[in-house]
Amino acid sequence: MTKKVPLYINGEWVESKTDQWIPVLNPATQEVLAEVPCATMDEMHAAIDSAKEAFKTWKEVSVSERARVMMRYAALLKTHQEELAGIICEELGKTHEDAMGDVWRGIEVVEHAANIPSMMMGETVENVARGIDTYSYTQPLGVCAGITPFNFPAMIPLWMYPMAVACGNTFILKPSEQDPLTPTRMVELFEEAGAPKGVLQVVHGTKEQVDVLLTHPDVKAISFVGSVPVGQYIYKTGTDNLKRVQAFAGAKNHLVVMPDANKQQVINNIVGSSVGAAGQRCMAASVAVFVGESKAWLPEIRDAIAKVSPGHYSKESSGYGPQINPQAKARILGLIEQGKKEGADCVLDGSEFMAEGYPKGNWVGPTMFTDVTVDMEIYKQEIFGPVLVTTNVDTLEDAIELVNNNPYGNGVSLFTASGFAGRKFQHEIECGQVGINIPIPVPLPFFSFTGWKGSFYGDTHAYGKQAVRFYTETKTITARWFEDNADHAQGPNMSINLK
Ligand code: NAD
Repeated sequence: MTKKVPLYINGEWVESKTDQWIPVLNPATQEVLAEVPCATMDEMHAAIDSAKEAFKTWKEVSVSERARVMMRYAALLKTHQEELAGIICEELGKTHEDAMGDVWRGIEVVEHAANIPSMMMGETVENVARGIDTYSYTQPLGVCAGITPFNFPAMIPLWMYPMAVACGNTFILKPSEQDPLTPTRMVELFEEAGAPKGVLQVVHGTKEQVDVLLTHPDVKAISFVGSVPVGQYIYKTGTDNLKRVQAFAGAKNHLVVMPDANKQQVINNIVGSSVGAAGQRCMAASVAVFVGESKAWLPEIRDAIAKVSPGHYSKESSGYGPQINPQAKARILGLIEQGKKEGADCVLDGSEFMAEGYPKGNWVGPTMFTDVTVDMEIYKQEIFGPVLVTTNVDTLEDAIELVNNNPYGNGVSLFTASGFAGRKFQHEIECGQVGINIPIPVPLPFFSFTGWKGSFYGDTHAYGKQAVRFYTETKTITARWFEDNADHAQGPNMSINLK
């Protein structure tokens, strides 16, 4: 019988009473790995009620004990890193190395969350007026919720609940319905790390279930990571319901190549960052912009990308895995065809690729276009597949203008040997993460991570250093602690001489 993915409500793993189940497919074989439920409305409300109840006690647990849960959790995730990576390989098709990285990047966030006591410290000033002190505390919000995408089933849920829970909130996770087995296992480990009943809940489903989280008055904050249309919807609906919302959305990341860059470094970095992980990364380099004579390297870049061979994760030779589902593959193939029709030069076409031994896999071979212009769909849309589009400009100023005119602003990179060019680029470019001679500039969690323009909806609170600000409120207290100031005002009565 097909495995049924359970819900996690009030500290119990329960089978949903729904009659709507979505198959979880291995994208290399179409084998049904499990079925994931679309939780009933009663189950959604039970999760919210339980999280609300658990908040009453969890917020009173000492900050050191909350930190210790994170320390134990980080240790458990490390022990189970291989196991979790194995689940990711099965349900998402990533290569083993990529899957290990997915888990590791999440572990780093949990380690960061273990520093919660210092991150939650407030501010104090004594004697703001005679005998009066002012100080602030950082307090949790209540029930928070997270809605996550398919492409990092370990890292992205771990961006959310460890920080939210370490701050003293309770949390409801709605993972992607396409790969729910990894978060399920991670939450089992969270329980093992000592997180009390009700602190974390897991519900499953799609829009209908998300809508409950977006509209329920007891949910105070929503974190979302996913595509642009859904991100916009989540942001609008969540804020309409007066919730705090941070929505990380799609991207179209540019990689700018100056003629003075190290050619081999450029070639090596473009290959991995464009077609690696089947292009299913929000930080993938999907547009390479060649400045001046650097366009002469295009044939060598094409040859290097052509050598990458997708395949099953069990084969060491596999450069990357399949697309997540047949619809995603069909959409990518449609965009490749449209690119050809619109006049771009398809110098490498992976449309027909099939990995040996896995005829049912959602394969797309490495693909590359040259002579792409900004009005073409392959430039305008996030392809989210192993497709590199390239364009040429005359100067660094032209490249900066091109990137800044793009509606997205997640990541960008410049390859150059010039300090002047690097400084100018980092200063003028309008983008969240900037790489100088680094292809995928994702910072560690003690820095801030957020997108600009159409890649992020919300205020500056985001994942990373600033997550504590998203998941807490600041309370500022101004206090006179004595009924009679004379009791403690022992010193000379200083008067200020204004002259
Ligand atoms: P998606 O938007 O289809 O789904 C994300 C989540 O939203 C899932 O949990 C899904 O069940 C839910 N959802 C889908 N449709 C919904 C609707 N109509 N109403 C409410 N909820 C809905 O995204 P995806 O395909 O899973 O992930 C890929 C996208 O995520 C890409 O666009 C990628 O760039 C983006 N992404 C962004 C970042 C970032 O940091 N900016 C990181 C990773 C992925």
